[in-house]
This record gives sequence, C-alpha cells and structure tokens, in this order.
Amino acid sequence: MPPDFEHPKPAASWETRAYWEGCGRHELVLQRCDDCGSVQHRPRAICASCLSSAVSHFVASGRGRVYTYTITRQNGVPPFRDALPYVLAYVDLEEGPRLMTNIVGCDPEEVSIGQEVVVDFQDVDASDLGEAGGSFAVPRFRPA
Ligand SMILES: [Zn+2]
Repeated sequence: MPPDFEHPKPAASWETRAYWEGCGRHELVLQRCDDCGSVQHRPRAICASCLSSAVSHFVASGRGRVYTYTITRQNGVPPFRDALPYVLAYVDLEEGPRLMTNIVGCDPEEVSIGQEVVVDFQDVDASDLGEAGGSFAVPRFRPA
C-alpha cells in the first residue's frame, strides 16, 4: 500500500465553511434545498436547481460508489509526490452528489468502478484559523 497523503489545509470560504467544519467533526455535510429537495455539493449560497436561498445542511451517510478513477503515478508537487501512486476518483454519494476525492486504504490496483466506499477523514492542522477556531479534515474514501 502506498504512503498516505499529508493533505494541504482546505481554504474555507463563507460558503464552504460549514462543510469543512463538518469534516473536522468527521461528518460529511451536504446541502438540501428546503424548497425543491435537491441535494447538492459543492456548498453554495443558493440551490443550483431552483435558485432558492433556502438551503440547509445535513449529515450524509458517508457511503458511495466509485464512478470513475485514475491512478496518478507522476506528480512532482509536494505533498502529493510523497504519496505516489495514488487514486484520484469521483465518488457517487448515496444521497446523489458526485464528489472528487481520493481512494485510500487499499492498493491502487484494487480500486474498481462501482466499488462500494465509505468516507474516511484525515485531520489537518488548522491551528492558524484565528478567532473562528474549529478544526478541519479532508474527506477521502476507502473500500467499504
Ligand atoms: Zn431548490
């Protein structure tokens, strides 16, 4: 199994902060529109389906299936070069949205399209977040 990542700290904005804070609690947080029921990711101020501003956050199951993936074998940029080869993937979440992520916890050659996966969080140092505080983590997925 290849070495694990040391993910860079996420750059949270006012739209994405609740998502990253949820990750810090090891919860995968998505948004649901209160008007049309559409579930969306990435986090936005409005519903991407009906443009309503009535969007609420909820904790998702953390389960999904690999939609597609690639095995990255060349990347000279730290910290990714230290984790080669690694899997970059799109995962279809049980709730509907498709999320770009990494598949970890297995040999890259063991990943397959349609594979059942569950979210797995890596805590990142967020000690410099200032008065807002909180902790962040990066969601990745591993075989279920
Ligand atoms: Zn909507």
